[in-house]
Amino acid sequence: MPIQQLPDHLINQIAAGEVIERPASVVKELVENSLDARAQHIGISIEAGGARLIEITDDGVGIAADELPLALSRHATSKVTSLEDLSAVASLGFRGEALPSIASVARVELAARTESGEHGAMLAVQGGAAHDIVPTAMRSGARVTVRDLFYNTPARRKFLRTEKTEFTHIERVVRRLALAHPSVAFTLKHNGRNSMHLAAVPDGEGPERRIEQLLGTEFIAAAIPASQHREGLAIDAWLAAPAFNRSQPDMQYAFVNGRWVRDKTIMHAVRMGYQDVLFHGRHPAYVMWISMNPTRVDVNAHPAKTEVRFRDSGAIHALVQRTVTDAMRSTRPGTERNAVTGLPSRPAPVSQSGLSLATPNDMNRATSTGTTSTTNWTNLVREMPAAIPPVADDAPPPLGFAVAQIHGVFILAENAEGLVIVDMHAAHERITYERLKKAHSDRAMVRQPLLVPLRLNVSRAEADLCEANAAVLRQAGMVVERGGPEAVILREIPALLDATRAESLLRDVLADFESLGRSGRIAAFTDELLATMACHASVRANRKLTLPEMNALLRDMEATDRADQCNHGRPTWTQLGMPELDRLFLRGQ
Ligand code: ADP
Ligand code: MG
Repeated sequence: MPIQQLPDHLINQIAAGEVIERPASVVKELVENSLDARAQHIGISIEAGGARLIEITDDGVGIAADELPLALSRHATSKVTSLEDLSAVASLGFRGEALPSIASVARVELAARTESGEHGAMLAVQGGAAHDIVPTAMRSGARVTVRDLFYNTPARRKFLRTEKTEFTHIERVVRRLALAHPSVAFTLKHNGRNSMHLAAVPDGEGPERRIEQLLGTEFIAAAIPASQHREGLAIDAWLAAPAFNRSQPDMQYAFVNGRWVRDKTIMHAVRMGYQDVLFHGRHPAYVMWISMNPTRVDVNAHPAKTEVRFRDSGAIHALVQRTVTDAMRSTRPGTERNAVTGLPSRPAPVSQSGLSLATPNDMNRATSTGTTSTTNWTNLVREMPAAIPPVADDAPPPLGFAVAQIHGVFILAENAEGLVIVDMHAAHERITYERLKKAHSDRAMVRQPLLVPLRLNVSRAEADLCEANAAVLRQAGMVVERGGPEAVILREIPALLDATRAESLLRDVLADFESLGRSGRIAAFTDELLATMACHASVRANRKLTLPEMNALLRDMEATDRADQCNHGRPTWTQLGMPELDRLFLRGQ
């Protein structure tokens, strides 16, 4: 076959193959055009899952009558004119191919009126051929009507799913667009029925209302607002506390300069930020808006424009991760959000002077005096007293005071709301872990030599890994040497640890090494090493604690970042408030 130039209509249909996958893609492109036209109200009307009708009405700047044919022709756009523009795109569209692509695979009517126009004008296109422009009565703005999508491309039409499925995709797209632009009002109708009605969020008001409408009351109750503004990068996010998690990554919204993106850098950074607070295999929920100078991000990386390339992805990764890590610090008892039970708990009481440390029974300091307990944990308290949050004389602390221990596993405490139940191992694990992390980052890990160095027979591979990573281990407080081709000698351990657990600790660390060595992640190993150590250092089940010890643990929890969950993401405590207790006993019914 000789080489020949393809007709425009076919070129557009080829482009449509990339950009218009299904009705939801049409909705996305058309709503993006409305947003680019600075519309304040966008109405979306759908019939038969979008296969029969998609109509978008907006009150944006509109299009002059004589420009209607241009809007529908390929590579015609009002948004960029030069390479400089392209490297700093601030609009959602810029490729000038959405309208012609859609018009090549559907029957399209484009009607618009500018503010100065005397009346509106309408242009219909069918099979790529435009009719005459006719006047039409309308308010200023634009209306795009798309009928019988894929009517002339049967192969595509066959790929359409059920009405319901296609509409679900449309809803997902509209949800993203509406979250990205809280100040714009949206309505979505399917077969004449209202499906979404989102009022505009006034300037100066936060996006909570929009988030709540789209992600639900439970999400907003569990969400921690977080902001970081640094070096020309601004991040504003609502991050669900770890107890609100998902089995699928289906509540993760990231927007870059108003554009929803699926970006590996951002997703990875968020995951790192949630790393040691989220239960294994679960997914975090979040909404995150990132803004930066448009020259720092290349949006021309993908026809559907859902992928971007950052010019400095390292800086973005770092700031996103820091935003999440910092926000997760506040997941401890006494902060406003208590997603563990879904009940709001009292904010941490803070004394006016900020100085008073005394509680009615002076429980906070009870452990430092006269305890004969042999638990490591009391040693910890003595060696590294936590910064105890100031408590007003008459305000009980958030977790209240211990009343009993159950089966050596749970602590029961009474607080202002009612009953608190604490998993003491989980709680102590987090406390120890945060202390180890701090000591490690301060390079202040205190070591204690073992009276009798511990010799362990291991595999040659394990011994090799130990030797190769001796420096990492030493910095974490463990001094290990090679003791032979298949042996290692443990000489010193962190002072925080109980020497009687040294052997099992080293065995676990070696097991970690094994799995990490295979995945080549040894460099990123410190947190896991510290977590393993924290687990070994923490009070085990069946350890009898005295009331003062229990209270000291409660006070430590209140003073420890992320103490709502252990380092594996399991909750450390829960609250049974008086209303719930009353309900259990049918009181007042
Ligand atoms: P792009 O958005 O990439 O510029 P499109 O094919 O989506 O390309 O749209 C072509 C042009 O039509 C836009 O650049 C814009 O000038 C105009 N246009 C499309 N939709 C609207 C609208 N809703 N309001 C005003 N102008 C519009
Ligand atoms: Mg467009």
